[in-house]
Amino acid sequence: MQLSFLGAAGTVTGSKYLVTFNGFRLLVDCGLYQGLKDYRRRNWQPLPIPAEDIDAVVLTHAHIDHSGYLPALVRQGYDGPVYCSQGTRDLCRVLLPDAGYLQEEDARFANKHGFSRHKPALPLYTEEDARRALKLFRPLSLDSINDIGNGLTLRLRPAGHILGACTLEVFNGRHLLAFSGDLGRADDPIMYPPDPMPRADYLVLESTYGDRLHTETDSLSTLEQIINKTAKRGGIVLMPAFAVGRAQLALHMISQLKRQNRIPRELPVYLNSPMAIKATELFYQHPEKHRLTREDCERIDAGTLYVRTMEESMALNRRTFPAIIISASGMASGGRVLHHLTTLAPNHRNSIVFMGFQAPGTRGEKMVNGAREVKIHGRQVTINADVHNLEGLSAHADYQGILDWLTAVHQPPRKVLITHGEPTASVSLAEHIHTRFGWSAEVPELGTTIEIPDPD
Ligand SMILES: [Zn+2]
Repeated sequence: MQLSFLGAAGTVTGSKYLVTFNGFRLLVDCGLYQGLKDYRRRNWQPLPIPAEDIDAVVLTHAHIDHSGYLPALVRQGYDGPVYCSQGTRDLCRVLLPDAGYLQEEDARFANKHGFSRHKPALPLYTEEDARRALKLFRPLSLDSINDIGNGLTLRLRPAGHILGACTLEVFNGRHLLAFSGDLGRADDPIMYPPDPMPRADYLVLESTYGDRLHTETDSLSTLEQIINKTAKRGGIVLMPAFAVGRAQLALHMISQLKRQNRIPRELPVYLNSPMAIKATELFYQHPEKHRLTREDCERIDAGTLYVRTMEESMALNRRTFPAIIISASGMASGGRVLHHLTTLAPNHRNSIVFMGFQAPGTRGEKMVNGAREVKIHGRQVTINADVHNLEGLSAHADYQGILDWLTAVHQPPRKVLITHGEPTASVSLAEHIHTRFGWSAEVPELGTTIEIPDPD
């Protein structure tokens, strides 16, 4: 069996791994690169193998950095099965067509304003490509063992993190090659902890927070203070949030604060992201998959103003009295939140509250690191609003959480391969694993292939 690292090596986005066994080629995750331009350019580079030579794809979860390259793969000729959990399939139905639409919008915008070096600028893929990709989805039941051909089986187990997120086990009859996907937190306020993984001969492990611990600060109180301070000076709180998961957490926290009379009950709360609205509906439909009760969901629903059309979204920008606006994307790398940032960021009365990891090169990362100006749609926007990052709300386990999850692996893995992190985070996690368990852990480079030998 061979394992090649085609993405998320040396960085947090672009997850793609190729498993080859008996001539069968399985692509594990099919993610888009996001963030720095150098990374985004990689989305345009051809994969080392032609799309039509891939036999199957399996997705750990629906986040775009794990699923967002799939329509591009389909555009290049892939027409095999896409295995994943039902939750991932449901979320991809929301996320992928939107990703295609955004690719088309970006190309249209670049053509109109002439910022692309390519004439005409073409989308990486279209909404139509995304819809074709969705037809290939084959949801698997959680915890079941699924034969996918040529002696390979797959098993998905819940990983917390977001709805439908899973860890993955690929078994070839001898070796169990496991993938953590993105690992959730034991103490996530809305998601359940990741299930333990009792065995992994080779383990591909994420390291987003490989060198950090989540702070113990009470995020609810911090948010309370920010909202009250901003409302008192007549400002608007803008929360850029991942449409899936963090947007629902933001709504839940605001609903708790209102119920406890810690913030003004009459403060309007807008959810301005068609994707986040659909993801919130999925939360209501799958009460077994998260910690929110039916009453929590009903309270959120009753207390939220859903902004669906572009006209309503634009009208929201003309609002001058205190309010809370939650809008995607979470790292301000695209989406409707950009229009709000353009209007709200220059005003010192307003506050901008990020929720969790900000990938290098994103506007979110620049702003939480104190940038006084960011470029949006080709124009410089001054940042006079207060900028906060509630990192304690991240959907990723910190290194302690990852180590705790690893204690369930009973037999020492032959090797732990650390990916999905900035280089310092990945190296640091390798050291933690070595110190705590004495296991062999390494950080593979992009494009490398490792041989998984058969035991004697
Ligand atoms: Zn994720």
